[in-house]
Amino acid sequence: MRLRVLKFGGTSLHGRQNWERVVRRVTSYARRDHSILVVVSAMGRNESPYATDTLIRLADSFGDPTPLRELDLIMSCGELISAVAMTGALRAAGLQATALTGGQAGILTGDRFGEARIIRIDPSEPLRILRRGHVPVVAGFQGVTEEGEITTLGRGGSDITAAALGVALGAEMVEICTDVNGIKTADPRLVSEARTIDDMSYEEMFQLAQQGAQVVHPRACQIVMAGNVPLRVRSTFNDHPGTTVTEGRLNHRRPVTGVTHVADLAQIRVNGEQDETQGVFGILADSDISVDLINASPDEIAFVVDGDLLEPAQRALEEAGYCARGRSGCAKVSVVGAGMRGVPGVMAQVVRALKDADVDILQTCDSHLSINCLVPGDDMARTVRALHSHFELDRMGGTGDEQ
Ligand code: ADP
Ligand code: MG
Repeated sequence: MRLRVLKFGGTSLHGRQNWERVVRRVTSYARRDHSILVVVSAMGRNESPYATDTLIRLADSFGDPTPLRELDLIMSCGELISAVAMTGALRAAGLQATALTGGQAGILTGDRFGEARIIRIDPSEPLRILRRGHVPVVAGFQGVTEEGEITTLGRGGSDITAAALGVALGAEMVEICTDVNGIKTADPRLVSEARTIDDMSYEEMFQLAQQGAQVVHPRACQIVMAGNVPLRVRSTFNDHPGTTVTEGRLNHRRPVTGVTHVADLAQIRVNGEQDETQGVFGILADSDISVDLINASPDEIAFVVDGDLLEPAQRALEEAGYCARGRSGCAKVSVVGAGMRGVPGVMAQVVRALKDADVDILQTCDSHLSINCLVPGDDMARTVRALHSHFELDRMGGTGDEQ
């Protein structure tokens, strides 16, 4: 069976005209003799009636915060509404289609509501539907626990659903259909000259996603990498070939492939002896606070947390007797590229580019595939643009198309 998994995000499922494009994409593959499995997100964003944010507001509108279990129940409705609507649209176009919840599609998860991890996939139901010649339309972003509780997989979770089903069913490709032409050298909302990258390795895609390129969820990258299923990111709205992600050769054409950013972070600095490192991170782990960009020197430990976790993190550390100084309103900007491995001087170039752009670097960190800089949030866009142009990403490779 030549199976393609097509995932359509919220931005693709917004407005009649977009739905027509989605249906055209599905029917054109079906006509070319592919079996298709569709994964959908909730329709639209923010104010849209069935968008996830709207559903959360409804649940929260009575005052008390909604328990996580109930929050997952209501959040899972958006995708389900999309899935059922999609089967209607596909039927109208002459295809047979069957809607499935994540649980019905065999996605079994742990019980951490709001951030559930997939434990196992039992693809027998989607397989049965495919064998009948129907298109299974699976509600993305959700699963079910062994006990039958509905869970959600966290923001961007529909990408994970598509990747996991693609691997479980041995798909020839997983296509993430979205509102941009592919994976770009930077977020086009910040850098209008960002280019679409033709191809890259799983490892590079994972790094870009992990460092903030929200176009594909990092776990989805790990899943297709482990299953060795090719992934394609492309636009729902045109025929641009998009970005193909495979095992491939690592992309050594240039040291830097892309620039990513994460906004709304906070820096915490703790005075202390080196041997207290374990203590600080143990306290934060106990409070379920994850940390990033760790720099430990003999007399100071600096790290980064999500902006809204600054207060709880400081409180937990101070209760344990540490002096924890916080700075909110920070952003992480990273240059990412498999080609920087073993190339000397990339960090020096980053520092120079930011000096020329008059940006203060609050902290840096590097791995063999990325260099991260913490900068004041107000300078984030300028930092991304400065690095994008310093590494000439607007001129190299890919296509300079606008979407
Ligand atoms: P969907 O609703 O399809 O899941 P997302 O909003 O999750 O869409 O992802 C698409 C968005 O990701 C784009 O509109 C773009 O602004 C953003 N984005 C961030 N970084 C990148 C990047 N490096 N390449 C492409 N898009 C990016
Ligand atoms: Mg998304």
